Amino acid sequence: AVAAAVLLALSAAACESSDEGSDSGSSSDSAKIALLLPESQTTRYEQFDKPLFEAKVKSLCSGCSVIYNNANQQSDTQQQQAEAALNDGAKVLVLDPVDGAAAASIVNTAKAKKVPVISYDRLVTGADLDYYISFDNEKVGALQATSLVDQLKKTGKTSGNVVMINGSPTDNNAKLFNKGAHSVLDGSGFKLEPTPDYFTPEWKPENAQTFMDGQISKLGKTGFVGVYAANDGTAGGAIAAMKAAGVTPLPPVTGQDAELAAIQRIVAGDQFMTVYKAIKPEAEKAAEIAVALAQGKEITDQTTPVNNGKEDVPSILLTPVAVTKDNIKTTVVADNFYTVAQICTAD
Ligand code: BGC
Repeated sequence: AVAAAVLLALSAAACESSDEGSDSGSSSDSAKIALLLPESQTTRYEQFDKPLFEAKVKSLCSGCSVIYNNANQQSDTQQQQAEAALNDGAKVLVLDPVDGAAAASIVNTAKAKKVPVISYDRLVTGADLDYYISFDNEKVGALQATSLVDQLKKTGKTSGNVVMINGSPTDNNAKLFNKGAHSVLDGSGFKLEPTPDYFTPEWKPENAQTFMDGQISKLGKTGFVGVYAANDGTAGGAIAAMKAAGVTPLPPVTGQDAELAAIQRIVAGDQFMTVYKAIKPEAEKAAEIAVALAQGKEITDQTTPVNNGKEDVPSILLTPVAVTKDNIKTTVVADNFYTVAQICTAD
């Protein structure tokens, strides 16, 4: 089984060189790989990213182990977790940064120890990275905004305010979602509120809820036609604020992550859409590259360059998919992300 797993991890070219097995029992077969995730309020991390990554590492390298840490939104905690993992002998860091700019110092610390770093899902800016594995995040924002505008037009609206709730100001992805959304909403006839754009500290649903409360007071219950929320957590906060204020009917609200609660809100008609990002290929690709780096194997994946302010980082960007009531079955259900039974437990 080990041999088969090793074969799987190898490129065709590397398989032809007949020295596989020669390093069995060596340290590369028992490497420690650190997975550092940013928070646990968004369900994806503990429910999907972590277990899928760990399972893939095990299947590729049965002697390898994963040092897992979640920083719970604290950038300083993440720095300490990274240092502890390096002291514990981690051979590769897979880092999803709480703060993309501050995490450059984590990368520098790793690099000083010749430990490669994969930037996972969120980009670390201004640092020398080995790989970046994520989704096309500008496309995420464009999908959200396109669904929203299409839905508004379908219901006869061509103008009005759209309240925009962006992600965390320290998350590079939040900037990309915002950029993609602007590319569609600017010049669409709808007016974004407020100006300047609001970014939600730590992506916290309760912060989004408080912010939405303020927007309802400012604009009035009928003073906006839609809500652009950058992910399902912030969408949930916005919807809670509107329900508490008695906004009826609820205007279309966007989201992201295809969280179970959000899919249930879509079924119930409280949220208009979400964006499904298949975590399995993302987590498994990161695991594959991490194991290959730990074992000093060649990596043959096709990459595209993404500039992080310091260099062009070889990157693998997966494709996000918009999900509304109409395609839940052909997306998240067809992909076994959730079963119909899981979705339909809502009362
Ligand atoms: C991720 C989203 C997630 C958000 C909050 C982003 O960087 O791409 O999937 O909802 O962070 O954790």
